[in-house]
Amino acid sequence: MRTISVTLRAKSETSYDIFLAPALLGGVGRKMRAILKSAQTVAVITDDNVKALYLQPVLDSLKQEGFNPVYFSVLPGEASKSAEVLFSVLNWLAENQLTRTDAIVALGGGVVGDLAGFAAATYLRGIAFVQIPTTLLAMVDSSVGGKTGIDLPAGKNLAGAFYQPSMVLCDTDVLSTLPPEVFSDGNAEVIKYGMIRHPALLEKLKNNPIQKQLDEVIEICIGLKRDIVQEDEFDLGERQLLNFGHTIGHAIEKLSAYEISHGRAVAAGMSIITRVAVRKNLCPPQCQTSLENLLALYGLPNQINYAPKEIFEAALNDKKRAGAEITEIVPRTLGESVLRKMPVAELLEGIELGLKP
Ligand code: NAD
Repeated sequence: MRTISVTLRAKSETSYDIFLAPALLGGVGRKMRAILKSAQTVAVITDDNVKALYLQPVLDSLKQEGFNPVYFSVLPGEASKSAEVLFSVLNWLAENQLTRTDAIVALGGGVVGDLAGFAAATYLRGIAFVQIPTTLLAMVDSSVGGKTGIDLPAGKNLAGAFYQPSMVLCDTDVLSTLPPEVFSDGNAEVIKYGMIRHPALLEKLKNNPIQKQLDEVIEICIGLKRDIVQEDEFDLGERQLLNFGHTIGHAIEKLSAYEISHGRAVAAGMSIITRVAVRKNLCPPQCQTSLENLLALYGLPNQINYAPKEIFEAALNDKKRAGAEITEIVPRTLGESVLRKMPVAELLEGIELGLKP
């Protein structure tokens, strides 16, 4: 079993472990009992697809350790990251009389993790929660680092909290049931890590299919995210690198009414911003060709069919905007990206440049 430990010191010191191995689901109860000695009720939040596949072993394992497990299942998809669903979850937690010493388990992809994490952050002003990510994207990215939240009609992730899990359990066996397009969404975030901080990861992905080196690749990504989050828990600097491709990506998701998945939208966003960087001589042309070849190899898009103005307007709600300035993440060389503050108007110019074939 691979164990990656996270220690955060920005407020009071918090630490938690991320476990990565096959066949972990049956041991959830034991691992939770080791850290949550007095918890009684454990509220498992999942979605209908994951419920059908993986809920039962988790409930059984929790019962074996003397917990009283209850569960709440939401409809699969981004629409469940809403205020309505959040309030249903909070009311259901209250109906089940969870107390401050009880706990929440997020069993699912990034949608369930973000929603359940935000419920854990707000219910009784915060109760413990454990992440059991079941998609590649959730294992390499969303389950680590404590960003939780929901979407608002005005845009993605506009309400949320920084709230760290007590433990993350990545059972790699569950990835075998992922639909191929959901698996490839996760590849977009893996490629993102390579582009911002890890040229060797890009080489690995180019030379060998990710499926043949899955545990190692997931461990590299979690390690990178851990390092970045430890440096900048509250997203005031370096952590924003993780948003490479996301300003445009989130705008694309919103414009498509979330028909275009997060991973695909981010892939197109990374590609568009890299094209801009090349065309402005901020990075060598090889960055763009290497990125686009890799995206194609993993079945991900490098362009999108929206007008620049539409994307720009949808991007104005981005959290990296501060007044008339926005921070964009641009590659400098292959495997190294930097933060670049620019006037908001320059973003429109950039999107126009990046959308040109
Ligand atoms: P998702 O949670 O919608 O899951 C995708 C689909 O896969 C769903 O239909 C789900 O039911 C299904 N599924 C999940 N696990 C499965 C399994 N093992 N077998 C079969 N089907 C399975 O999508 P996602 O890509 O995991 O997450 C996307 C979300 O994550 C977005 O809302 C995004 O904003 C968020 N995100 C958050 C962070 C963060 O730091 N908090 C980072 C990146 C992305």
